[in-house]
Amino acid sequence: MSELRRILLLGGTEDSRALAEGLSKFAGVEVVSSLAGRTEQPLALPGSLRIGGFGGVEALARYLDEEHIDLLVDATHPFAARISENAEVACRRSRTPRLVVQRQAWQAVEGDRWIRVPSAEAAAQALHGLAKRVFVTVGRQELSAFEALRDIWFLVRMIDPPRQPLPLVQCHVVLGRGPFEECGERALVQEHGIEALVTKNSGGAATYAKVAVARDCGLPVVMIDRPFAPPGETVDCVEDALNRIAKMFHLGERGPAHEAR
Ligand code: NAP
Repeated sequence: MSELRRILLLGGTEDSRALAEGLSKFAGVEVVSSLAGRTEQPLALPGSLRIGGFGGVEALARYLDEEHIDLLVDATHPFAARISENAEVACRRSRTPRLVVQRQAWQAVEGDRWIRVPSAEAAAQALHGLAKRVFVTVGRQELSAFEALRDIWFLVRMIDPPRQPLPLVQCHVVLGRGPFEECGERALVQEHGIEALVTKNSGGAATYAKVAVARDCGLPVVMIDRPFAPPGETVDCVEDALNRIAKMFHLGERGPAHEAR
């Protein structure tokens, strides 16, 4: 019987969910998905799930050793820079192979009015004099960067309702979990009289609709560029990741006999 391969899948994205689904179809792999625990009710995933930080690089390296992990797949969000850096160092220390799944960044096309900035703080600077009603989709942790903009009204999209008051003087929260469609994004823009969008350059299709709608409506987009990504073997889609992993471990799909067991 062939060896069982253990994969640690660092997640928190649509791609990591699709990867967990895809990997569950292979015989001979066991997948542990890992989430930071930012979302209150994560959607169910195949395989096992662990939630919460590891406790830094050393602890992650120890986890990889103790759990006999054969491959770490980093399918975290491109803006989750700390965990990706930790994973790179921990894998080197524990000599665990690592594969990064990172969607390509969005590229501006004709008609886009992007203002590219390196951080949420720079995005806040860029809003001075640009717009009075802004749709901001940067995530809860970065909202404090916009705190001083007391004369701007913000439409804030979040997955979970905020547990504490937001650091914005004028704002309205809409709840939503991607993927998002253009018709819904257009309705939000129109209903709230949005004059500009602030977003991270997440890449991928799930959250691109707002960028397309901003272009159609002629609105400026303050686009936050991605942070530094540590080096390593990288693929840009789930399908390539599954192919790479199947090849690496000579995996085949689970047969009916296996599923019945
Ligand atoms: P981060 O700044 O890179 O990580 C901060 C700490 O959170 C890490 O040092 C680690 O703690 C823990 N952590 C992060 N991701 C983890 C994971 N998948 N499993 C276990 N521990 C994890 O991360 P972040 O930007 O706060 O993002 C947190 C999670 O949300 C990520 O999994 C990411 O995929 C997802 N997400 C992030 C964004 C975004 O814009 N940043 C957007 C969508 C989804 P220890 O050092 O204790 O191990």
